[in-house]
Amino acid sequence: KNLKKYFPIKGGFLKRTIGHVRAVEDISFTIKRGETLGIVGESGCGKSTTGRTILNLLEKTDGEVYYRGKEIFGLSKEELIQLRTKMQIVFQDPYSSLNPRLTVAQIVGEALVHHGMAKKGKEVNDRVSDIIEKCGLAPYHIRRYPHEFSGGQRQRIGIARALALNPEFIVCDEPVSALDVSIQSQVINLLMDLQDEMGLTYLFISHDLSVVKHISDRIGVMYLGSMVELTTKDELYKSPLHPYTQALLSAIPVPDPTIKRNRIILKGDIPSPANPPTGCRFHTRCPHTTERCKVEIPEFREVAPEHFVACHLI
Ligand code: SF4
Ligand code: MG
Repeated sequence: KNLKKYFPIKGGFLKRTIGHVRAVEDISFTIKRGETLGIVGESGCGKSTTGRTILNLLEKTDGEVYYRGKEIFGLSKEELIQLRTKMQIVFQDPYSSLNPRLTVAQIVGEALVHHGMAKKGKEVNDRVSDIIEKCGLAPYHIRRYPHEFSGGQRQRIGIARALALNPEFIVCDEPVSALDVSIQSQVINLLMDLQDEMGLTYLFISHDLSVVKHISDRIGVMYLGSMVELTTKDELYKSPLHPYTQALLSAIPVPDPTIKRNRIILKGDIPSPANPPTGCRFHTRCPHTTERCKVEIPEFREVAPEHFVACHLI
């Protein structure tokens, strides 16, 4: 609710704060139990920062995050440790997110030991074997090191690590972006199977509209730190309302070359989040900008059931 995350910019001789990167600017949304909420947007739009801030991996600048009705930034340390087991993350890069010096048993089992859910030795190994098998890796792999695996296999290890504590909610931060296209669908299908089997809820972050379309129930579109549109998958692809969403969707290649579609080319580049435009943040590139757009921030409001948009024209 009204979540903000700013990063200070340090500069000058004394390394004083001379400004802020306003990575997430006042966004509000709900994730329903058991669903996959996709978040899509170009790099630097604040999607990863949003995912990390709602997990409390980054300190918020302002706003609130509620998990099953409880505000998480106000929790005691013990409550927060409890919550940690329920909320997990799968990172983008399966090459750098796994410690090369640790075996799979250690990587996946670390949290189990830390949270007292398994003692060292055989108990941990048995649990880890079960989890990695669920993720499509044979149990004998537990003694191996990350470099012995392919990219897709490493991401399966990353997913196994997130599942170790039996979480309810997982932020998937571009989990297939670093993988070959041929491997991407295997990992997406694995995530979908695990969701069914374990009743998981996902926040699925991606810059790739076709990936998000495949896995999501609802989709939120972000631009320069703001959420500009949020609705069900079908509604978004059938009748996108925000000019930025329309431009994004017009850029997806159509498999049938005889279908002509008007591609909307946006002028200019994405402005810097350190110095975002006034009013509607999209006004410097929007094909429909009016004077009002330059001064007044459009409210993110529900214009039809389950369809939220931030635009003065709608
Ligand atoms: Fe474009 Fe104005 Fe709507 Fe922003 S508020 S998306 S600038 S029409
Ligand atoms: Mg990112």
